[in-house]
Amino acid sequence: MAGEPQADCLFCKIVKGEVPATVVKETETTVAFRDINPQAPVHVLVIPKVHYPDAGSLAAAEPAIAADVLREAGEVALQENGEKGFRIVFNTGAGAGQTVFHAHAHVLGGRGFNWPPG
Ligand code: 5GP
Ligand code: ZN
Repeated sequence: MAGEPQADCLFCKIVKGEVPATVVKETETTVAFRDINPQAPVHVLVIPKVHYPDAGSLAAAEPAIAADVLREAGEVALQENGEKGFRIVFNTGAGAGQTVFHAHAHVLGGRGFNWPPG
């Protein structure tokens, strides 16, 4: 069934507590935890507890949960970095650098960002 946990999915295992993670915030529908390879002083991943391969497919199937992910991204940024501003990134597809195919928002903050990087 759509959204069901996938046995071979790393982030489903984090949701179930089978793989440890440094959780900074959890709700009924989402988990936020520190990225294992941070790209900024604040680098948190916000994921839905349901399994969809990317943010677009999550939003199409479960728009309320996609909205939860966005709201939590803002809440976590405020919690971790105050009102200094932050960036949300959804890598989508291997060609864009997605490596874990369970929808997730990267919440990045605590440094400046060059845009576009080239
Ligand atoms: P993607 O490249 O798919 O957009 O992002 C996946 C992210 O997951 C990467 O930034 C990577 O560092 C992070 N990641 C990969 N494995 C683990 C893990 O076991 N624990 C945590 N906390 N983050 C992970
Ligand atoms: Zn998953």
